[in-house]
Amino acid sequence: MNSPLMIYLTLICMSTVFILFLLIYVLRKRHNYSEIAHYFLLYTAAIGIYCFGAGMALTAGTLEQMEFWTVIQYVGMPFSAPLGLLFIMRYLGIKVTKTGFWSLMIVPFLTLLMVITNDSHGLHYRVFEADPVMGMPFIYQEIGTWYAVHGLYIFSCMFVAFVLLLSKWRETARAYRPQIVALLFGQLLPMLTSFLYLIGATPSGLDPVPMVLWLSSLLYFWAISSSTLFAIMPVAKDIIFNHIKDGVIVLDKSYRLIEFNRAAKNNFPLLDKPMYGMEFQEIWLRMTGERFPVELGRTADVQEVQAVIGHSERIYQVSASTMRHGGNSEGWLLIFTDVTELKKLQQQLEHQAFYDELTQVYNRRAFLRQCEQDFAAAKEKSEPFSIILMDIDHFKVINDTYGHDLGDEVLVHIAQTYRHKLQKGQVFARYGGEEFVLALNGFTVEQAEQIGNELRSYLQSHPLVTGERVISATLSMGAAESSKGSLQQLLKKADLALYEAKQNGRDRVAVYKEIVESIK
Ligand code: GH3
Ligand code: MG
Ligand code: MG
Repeated sequence: MNSPLMIYLTLICMSTVFILFLLIYVLRKRHNYSEIAHYFLLYTAAIGIYCFGAGMALTAGTLEQMEFWTVIQYVGMPFSAPLGLLFIMRYLGIKVTKTGFWSLMIVPFLTLLMVITNDSHGLHYRVFEADPVMGMPFIYQEIGTWYAVHGLYIFSCMFVAFVLLLSKWRETARAYRPQIVALLFGQLLPMLTSFLYLIGATPSGLDPVPMVLWLSSLLYFWAISSSTLFAIMPVAKDIIFNHIKDGVIVLDKSYRLIEFNRAAKNNFPLLDKPMYGMEFQEIWLRMTGERFPVELGRTADVQEVQAVIGHSERIYQVSASTMRHGGNSEGWLLIFTDVTELKKLQQQLEHQAFYDELTQVYNRRAFLRQCEQDFAAAKEKSEPFSIILMDIDHFKVINDTYGHDLGDEVLVHIAQTYRHKLQKGQVFARYGGEEFVLALNGFTVEQAEQIGNELRSYLQSHPLVTGERVISATLSMGAAESSKGSLQQLLKKADLALYEAKQNGRDRVAVYKEIVESIK
């Protein structure tokens, strides 16, 4: 065997061994990988068969042997280009249907058929014989029509894969770019070699592509073993990243932006690919005008973060977790759940639960909740605590005279008028239909009586004015003070006083003490 042949054979053997190694490596680990590894296995198996056939062809002594090993090469080679393309497509997250898969395999099957039956039609090789000068295993060949179709097809597949990879370059996170480079070169190498072969720039009589495939395999091996080619990229990009509703932002261990998903972009429109590599604090500042309030590494739990995005105030639940790989922290995963609407609904429900729908002042439930606390605190500090219960006088008449709707307006008017006159330590609420209540924390009953009278006269001088009509309403009030007993007992006392006020002619304040004294 002459020495260039030895070199060719060595290179091809090297490719075959490398490919075999790669195949076994991925095969053994395929359970850890995503579906993309299956495409890669098929692709690798195809180029493995191709290289093996090419290596064996170099040992062929007769034309029959050569033809046999050529057929073996064609079991792999025509399929490897579309399988490589499919692998790249899956890697980039482009979905491939079953029909799509088998359609891409039509030309390779036809090519294999053409090569097997070439003797009867000569469509693939018009001439295929031992090189007249160099002899076996060098081949003198003249290509047929189908060869051109096949050549164009595999070249196109490789080219499309290459262009797809290039097109994703800009939107690929910096951390994954070395993978793209490895894949680009992995594709470029056989593409360039076959191109040179097709234009006759390589030594004639031998297909040089198998001789460079070891380098492609090495690049693929590097991409798989060192940068988790199969494990993270496609899964993260395609499934986790873009298909979940929450905004996901990935940072490296120095808090620099590596990746974000579509939902994150929707949440934060200023977030952009050129920000890759930028520190997240800086990015957050640009997006919201404020510092990012979550201290990464300190807080494991979900935290609520408010931010003004554009002109709207948003509330996010932010979960920050460490991404671990082999025990080491590789970076951070920030998940932003927009809870603005949920919070609004919660506030609305809370408002409904504690505010009276008509008058928009506290309802009885809110009043009792607040007063229980205030009353207990006042008792503990031995501070005075008074209550005034109020009832509109002859409200039925107001309703009957002006109608129920205007009756409602009177209620709103009184509630709003009094609400605006509240001072510190005072809690005002609608206690029932046309009854109101005022709690006076830190006020004696004498002060309460005075406040009640002020409120009454204020209402007299500020009646409800609607259009032409002026509707005056008066109130009867019952005031009571206590530093003992329960809030319910105090309310009862105020109610008794109110009854007294009604009995004594309405439009007045009655004080519970007086009743006690009058009973005595
Ligand atoms: P007084 O208290 O001075 O003895 O006489 P009154 O006419 O106010 O008597 P009462 O307290 O028994 O009647 C209360 C009336 O208030 C009866 C009810 O129809 C009316 N009312 C209760 N809630 C509402 C309301 O939300 N809107 C309107 N328009 N009327 C209401
Ligand atoms: Mg009443
Ligand atoms: Mg009344």
